[in-house]
Amino acid sequence: MIAAHDSLPVMDFVEPEGIVHLVVCLESGEIATDRCVKIREEVYIEGTEPTEPCHLHPSAGLYKRGGLQPQEDYNTDDNSEDDERTHF
Ligand SMILES: [Zn+2]
Repeated sequence: MIAAHDSLPVMDFVEPEGIVHLVVCLESGEIATDRCVKIREEVYIEGTEPTEPCHLHPSAGLYKRGGLQPQEDYNTDDNSEDDERTHF
């Protein structure tokens, strides 16, 4: 279900309540920090999402300064994923 949304814009997708978008580290399955290399935006049912930051790639300042905003992160991540796919 998650993979099906991978290349689609989520703009007109109406989400049910209780859904949490979170950028997680693929290596640990925990919340991605700015040190994580392989990250992916995942969708969780509220309450089941990981709550711990990645222990494999600890970062002094988790996410970016100014608050936790994984959804903004995931928009920019989408662009970098596209770059990876094209294999220049
Ligand atoms: Zn990590």
